[in-house]
Amino acid sequence: MIIDLVAMPWGDFGTPSAALGALSAYVRNKCPDFKVACHSEYVEVAERIGIDRYRLISRHQLLAEQLYLSLLFPERCTATRSSFANTATASFGKTPHDAGINTDTWDQLFDALRHQLDDHARTKALELARRSGVVGLTTSLFQTFSSLALAQQIKSLNRNTVIVLGGASVVGMSGLSILHSFPFVDYIVQGEGEKPFIALLKSLAKKHNISPDTPGIITRESIPHTDQLRNLWAAPGLDDLPMPDYDEYAEKADRYSIIWNIPAASSRGCWWDRTEQTGNPRNRCYFCNYSTGRYREKSAARVACEVDFLARRYQNVRFMFTDNAIRPHGIQELTHALKKRRPQLSFFTSFRANMLPIDILRLNESGMTRCECGIEGLSNSYLKRINKGTSVMQNLQVLKTCHELGIWNNTNLITGFPGATEAEVNETVETIYWYAAAYYPSGRTIPFHLCIGSTVDRFREAYGIHSVRNSDAYRTCMPVRIWKKLELLDRSWDGPAEADWSPVLAACDKWRELHDQVRADERFPYPHPLYYHDGGDFLEIVDRRGGACRTLTFPSSWRLIYLFCMSIRADSAIHDRFGALLPRKEIETILDRFVAEKVMFQEGRSYLSLAVATTPAVAARRIRAQVRWHRKERGNEML
Ligand code: SF4
Repeated sequence: MIIDLVAMPWGDFGTPSAALGALSAYVRNKCPDFKVACHSEYVEVAERIGIDRYRLISRHQLLAEQLYLSLLFPERCTATRSSFANTATASFGKTPHDAGINTDTWDQLFDALRHQLDDHARTKALELARRSGVVGLTTSLFQTFSSLALAQQIKSLNRNTVIVLGGASVVGMSGLSILHSFPFVDYIVQGEGEKPFIALLKSLAKKHNISPDTPGIITRESIPHTDQLRNLWAAPGLDDLPMPDYDEYAEKADRYSIIWNIPAASSRGCWWDRTEQTGNPRNRCYFCNYSTGRYREKSAARVACEVDFLARRYQNVRFMFTDNAIRPHGIQELTHALKKRRPQLSFFTSFRANMLPIDILRLNESGMTRCECGIEGLSNSYLKRINKGTSVMQNLQVLKTCHELGIWNNTNLITGFPGATEAEVNETVETIYWYAAAYYPSGRTIPFHLCIGSTVDRFREAYGIHSVRNSDAYRTCMPVRIWKKLELLDRSWDGPAEADWSPVLAACDKWRELHDQVRADERFPYPHPLYYHDGGDFLEIVDRRGGACRTLTFPSSWRLIYLFCMSIRADSAIHDRFGALLPRKEIETILDRFVAEKVMFQEGRSYLSLAVATTPAVAARRIRAQVRWHRKERGNEML
């Protein structure tokens, strides 16, 4: 039996599909008799339509999905084209030229792209319909409708080809609703796909019906809202999984001269999402639905071995860790193992804002040049509202550490979470203006989306949310009958009036302007709005946050306290450290002055100095020295 695994647009063409890499390796390892092939069709499409156009569309979910919706529902093409043009105008400007695309109107761009996508899908469908016993399509990165459009064409050419959809976009009721709306889809795989997919392949090979109790397999007979939809498989021991296989993508990347990143996973699930262990749906960030399954880790040795194996196989040291959030403990062991195997890596990873500066430095020194730390909020009451489990002070510490170590941090603020108050909006604005604006990259905002299966979705009534439906944006692009039947991940809803977030958007604009201005000003040797010079027996702080420049110079004892608070310190620790040198009252006066000058942040009885080191090397030396001191004084406590 030939099994073809397909990744349609709109994944990042600079990275192979992690799902295809893991699944193809697993099937080959467990069932060598099956012939498995991968098809990174998003790369083919990027080549076909042009890299600039692909990049533009792939970053906008609605535009991406609308193009394939128009193939799936050609009778809605006129309405979809018009919706595409309106969305693109609102997002990028009047014409594609405003987005750097050499086409005169959005309508023309839509027609040109639609023609190319249709041509590609038809050609691919013909090839697969001729050869495949089973076509598996992954649907994570705006791939729902591109996968459905291809599946529809394959099935129309060969009704015996079995169509299976898996991935993050077909979780829960969403997957079942796809089966009931599109007769050309045969099965949905939910959760981690390796073992369920093998079970399905074996039953297909024997021409048996798969048992309806098979974890992770959804058929038309599956009963809505039952445990069957929650009965998912999760790999018990991640170290036992085979090495992922990206050979097919690597060959394409070579052919098209793509500089690419190798996906690697050091864990599955999210350690902050404890819903499965506790049975409490509130034990995670309330907006989130993208962590599935219990949290599990690979050993540090296995991660290093996998990275080494893949680097050697593909002669490539660029990696992208796909973890939802990298492990909270054991960073030292992990980074040590990575450095020992491959001293010259360059990688991206995600982590939560409670990561200590020393662990960020360790990751940086083992190759982390880019990261994602979704801080989501800059108001403590708002962070509590979304159950982020972090504080404004931790967010500032992580922004500061990434800035001074020169790590590009793809961070964001979520606006419009239901129930947010005007006071929370105002606190966010204040925090941006006075504190966060000191750090790069500047504020990126993402509006809250109601996602199916998120905690907010589970407790809609508590948020006053009602009339939940598929996102209104899709309504014009498909028959109303389908729009009502499908349960897409993105939802529209009605509810109480939201707080006005425009002051936060304006503050983020100012944040960006400040950094543009600071970087363009050649009179200063360092591109930082707020930095310090350590004079040895004095400390100078240069503050350009207000546009003009002011300097503050502090004597020796002040310098010591400021540098000590470069990572978050409780006042008890400050008094312990300096109590023998200075009277309590004087320490308090010093802290109060730093806070009043807004060069130090106070949260309850904790303090954080805000100015950054002039260079990454100075920052790294300081972080290491603080850890050495801490170890000497307090052992490994808090490290
Ligand atoms: S948003 Fe991130 S940290 Fe929060 S539960 Fe989801 S995956 Fe975990």
